[in-house]
Amino acid sequence: MEKLQTKNKAQRVNNYNVTKVAVAYGDGIGPEIMDATLKILDAAGANIQADKIEIGEQVYLSGNSSGIEKSAWETINKNKLILKAPITTPQGKGYKSLNVTLRKALGLFANVRPVSAFAPYVETNFAGMDVVVVRENEEDLYAGIEHQQTQDVVQCLKLITRPGCEKIVRYAFEYARAYGRKKVTCMVKDNIMKLTDGLFHNVFKEIALAYPDIESNSQIIDIGSARLAATPQNYDVIVTSNLYGDIISDIAAEIAGSVGMAGSANIGTNVAMFEAIHGSAPDIAGKKVANPSGLLNAAIMLLSHVGKTQIADNIKNAWLKTLEDCYHTADIYQEAITKEVVSTGEFANRVIDNLGKLPTQLPVSKLSEGNGEIKIPEYVRKEQKQVLVGVDIFINWKGKNPNEIGDILNNINSFKMKLKMITNRGVKVYPNGLAETYCTDHWRCRFVDIDSKIDGEKIYNPVDFEKVIALQSILHHKGFEVIKTENLYEFDGKRAFSLGQGE
Ligand code: NAD
Repeated sequence: MEKLQTKNKAQRVNNYNVTKVAVAYGDGIGPEIMDATLKILDAAGANIQADKIEIGEQVYLSGNSSGIEKSAWETINKNKLILKAPITTPQGKGYKSLNVTLRKALGLFANVRPVSAFAPYVETNFAGMDVVVVRENEEDLYAGIEHQQTQDVVQCLKLITRPGCEKIVRYAFEYARAYGRKKVTCMVKDNIMKLTDGLFHNVFKEIALAYPDIESNSQIIDIGSARLAATPQNYDVIVTSNLYGDIISDIAAEIAGSVGMAGSANIGTNVAMFEAIHGSAPDIAGKKVANPSGLLNAAIMLLSHVGKTQIADNIKNAWLKTLEDCYHTADIYQEAITKEVVSTGEFANRVIDNLGKLPTQLPVSKLSEGNGEIKIPEYVRKEQKQVLVGVDIFINWKGKNPNEIGDILNNINSFKMKLKMITNRGVKVYPNGLAETYCTDHWRCRFVDIDSKIDGEKIYNPVDFEKVIALQSILHHKGFEVIKTENLYEFDGKRAFSLGQGE
C-alpha cells in the first residue's frame, strides 16, 4: 500500500497533476457512456490522460478466452488505474469472466460500492439511504476450491485468512476516515461458523479499537441483511466477507432504486479499477439514451482515490444539481417531475453547465472534508505454537448404519490413536447417534490420542504425524476409501477445529 499512499499524497499537493488511466470503452452502451463521462471529467479539469485498452466481446470473439489483450495488461501495469465501461460476455462455453480475471490477477482485494437514494428524483422507498458496502474480494467461498468427494457429496472450501481480514477491515475504517463517514458495521455469521466468520469478527473487534473516532458495531448477516433492506438509512459503511458482500451490495443497490446510477471500485495494493455496476445494456446500445451516471460515479470514486477530492466533489455536486433540475435520461423518467428527457450527451452537457453549483435538496457531496488518505500497514504475522492433536479422516462408505462402520473403526487401535466419534454432514452419529439422522456416503471419522481428555478448550494430547499416516494405511488395507483428511490442531493451547453437533 506504500505506493498508493505516496501517490495520494503527491496528488493532494496538486489537484491538477495528470492522472494516467487505462480506459476500456467496453461493449453495448459502453462507448456512449464513456464518451459522456470523459467529457465531464475534462470540463471539470480532472486532467485525466486516457490510455485506451482493448477488452471485451471482440477480444473474446477473436479467440482470446480471457477477453483481454496482452497489450492491455501492459497499459494497466503502467498506469495502475482502470476506468472500465461494461462489457458483453459472449454466450457459449469457455469464456472466462473478465472481472474475475482482473480481480484475481491484480489482487483487487476490496470491492467498494457506495449506494445512495436520490429521492424524489429517482424513485425509491428509502429516501436518505447512503450506504457504502466494503466487500472482501479475494477469499471466502469464491476462492473456487471445489471437489466432488463421493457420489452423493460435493464440497466448496471457505477460506478466510487473517491477512485478508485485516486488510479489508482496515480498508473499511480507513475509507470511513478518508471520506468523513461515522460508523462501520461488520456482518458475519459467527454464531454458526465460529472459526471462519469468528476470525473475521475478531479481527474487526481488534481493529475497531484503533479507530475510536468511528463508531463500530456487528450484526449477524441474516438479520443484518433484513434490517438493511428494511431500514437502510441506519447504515453507513458495512464491511463483510465475499459472498455476503456480493448479496448485500445488490440488495442495497436494488432498494436504493439506483442500479443504473451506482459506481463501484475494486481496490488493490497497487492497482485500482472503477466501473458502473450495470451491464452493457445491448437493448439500448447505439440509441444515445443510456444514463452515464453509473460510470460517472465510478470516475468520481477514481478521482477521490487519487486524492482529487475537490474535483470529485465539484462533479458530484453538478451531477446532483442536474438530477434536481429534472433533466433525466429515459431510465429515470418520472411523469410527475421530469422536466425533459435528455440523451446521454445532453445529460453530460447539463452536468458540465452545473459545474461549480451545489444541489439544494439532495445532500452536498463533501468527499474533500475527510482526510482523503487511505493507509493500510503491512501485515505483521505473530507466530503461534501449532500442535497436532488428532485427525478427521473422511471415508466414502455406502452403508447406512453408523454403528456398523463405527464398531469396525472402534476396534482399530493404531499406535494409541483411537476413534473418538463419527459425524455425517456434521451431526454426530457414532457413538450414541440418533436413528433419525439421515446419513450420506460421506463419513467423518475423528481419531485422537487414546488418553485424550476434553477439558474446556484444552483437549487432546499431541499426536505424531507418522501415526496419522499409519492410520490411513491401516484403513486403506481394511478396505475403506479415504477421501480426505483434515489435521486437528491446537494453536497456542486452544482448540482450532469445530466439534461435531452433539459431540
Ligand atoms: P444490464 O445491466 O446490461 O441491463 C439490464 C437493464 O437495465 C436493461 O434493460 C438495460 O437497458 C438497463 N440499463 C442498464 N444500464 C443502463 C444505463 N446506464 N442506462 C439506462 N438503462 C440501463 O444487464 P444484462 O442485460 O443482464 O446484461 C447485459 C450484458 O452485460 C451481458 O452480456 C452481461 O454479461 C454484461 N454485464 C457486464 C457487466 C460488467 O462489465 N461489469 C456487469 C453486468 C453485466
